[in-house]
Amino acid sequence: MPELDTYRSKRHAGRTPEPTGSRRRARREAGENRFVVQEHHARALHWDFRLEHDGVLVSWAVPKGLPMDRRTNRLAKQTEDHPLEYLDFEGDIPAGEYGGGKVILWDTGRYDLEKWSDDEVKVVLHGQRVDGRYVLFRTKDDQWMVHRMDEPADGPFEPVPDLVRPMLATAGDTLPGPDDQWGYEFKWDGVRAVAYVDGGRLRLVSRNDRDVTVSYPELRAMGEALGSRPAVLDGEIVAFDDANRPSFGALQERMHVVDAGRARRLSQKTPVAYLAFDVLHLDGRPTLSLPYQERRALLESLSLAGDHWQTPPWFRGGGSGVLEAAARTGLEGVMAKRLGSTYQPGRRSGDWVKVKHLRTQEAVVVGWTPGQGRRQGHLGALLLAVPDTDGLRYVGKVGTGFSDAVLEDLATRLAPLVRADPAVPGSLPQTQVSGATWVEPVLVGEVAFGEWTRDGRLRHPRWRGLRPDKTPDEVAVEG
Ligand code: MN
Repeated sequence: MPELDTYRSKRHAGRTPEPTGSRRRARREAGENRFVVQEHHARALHWDFRLEHDGVLVSWAVPKGLPMDRRTNRLAKQTEDHPLEYLDFEGDIPAGEYGGGKVILWDTGRYDLEKWSDDEVKVVLHGQRVDGRYVLFRTKDDQWMVHRMDEPADGPFEPVPDLVRPMLATAGDTLPGPDDQWGYEFKWDGVRAVAYVDGGRLRLVSRNDRDVTVSYPELRAMGEALGSRPAVLDGEIVAFDDANRPSFGALQERMHVVDAGRARRLSQKTPVAYLAFDVLHLDGRPTLSLPYQERRALLESLSLAGDHWQTPPWFRGGGSGVLEAAARTGLEGVMAKRLGSTYQPGRRSGDWVKVKHLRTQEAVVVGWTPGQGRRQGHLGALLLAVPDTDGLRYVGKVGTGFSDAVLEDLATRLAPLVRADPAVPGSLPQTQVSGATWVEPVLVGEVAFGEWTRDGRLRHPRWRGLRPDKTPDEVAVEG
């Protein structure tokens, strides 16, 4: 069939498991109006949509897949006609060959034809996964759009929301009770991120609504693994130290990177993992109002496990054992979540309680003092404050926990922020602040510390790193 010349010219028979298109089955099977959608994990994930027509499969590559709702139009690029034998093809096209990558039969069935012209095709698909009325229309050359025209039979399909703010936990000194009414998870010492997956594409948004996708290229494959399932997940981005323990310090060099090339290099050197612990939207439905344990069951049904993403466990009851296990394995602490509780976006809720071994506090950097010896004249310690009823309140000086590289980085960030006088009102302890260089209170960091002193200072603070995901007015004093 001459219609298949392009198809054959792009492929090496014998090097790809795809059908050659030489068999003359076309006439016998003509007019059956079959269709197939193949999920194709090529260099860029896409879905190949093929309609049987005049003895061949007329084909489009749809980068984000067929839309499930009536509000979303999706791009479709017409590709070469494929042989009918391609209707049941799935398998691995070897790397280096045309379309190299895995092909999965995503859906197949028959269709009713409503209209077929050079620029517009209207069909009603009857498949296992797709059942609905679609129109494809040409916008220019091989560029088309595909649009769903009817509402799904089981109710409207809601597109992935733009923003769901993460639910926040209250801090507790001890585990809440009664034990059998709570679920427990390990607390991961990383940075919070909500993951949005639509058409196999991942978008990561930080706690302060910043799109941080570019900083973590190794997580992109999680979107591809979810394939056509639109989902919003809540979780933590975590880096690991040499002992393979979550390390907020190790994550520091990844958090601020906005250059794609640099992020790629760092993803080789210090890779991160996304630890998913909640699901907020799935397959066109919000899941926020489901009870905690049902959301967890739904999350586990996704079997999210890859080189750079996991679904860590949760435990029903047995909180003290989980807390002990966290301490033994060097984890930061435990998150207790009330069974039956809904997900409350953007709210700090008593339904989630964090109990930490390591006491940490966020603080605003208000100045620095020079170091000793080798660091004479250079930044040696930071002066910290927290928001208070009338502005800022000084809480102490931190001079440990820094590497030289971190000190240099902080010096660079603080240089343009210098101001003449302290941003902290009132009297300051002269022994701590002598020789200080004051800065605008803009940068937020985090320290570990022993306890609060009676005069409201941090005892034994140790620097953990900057918190670019927090703004100064978000800093809260934890008891
Ligand atoms: Mn393809």
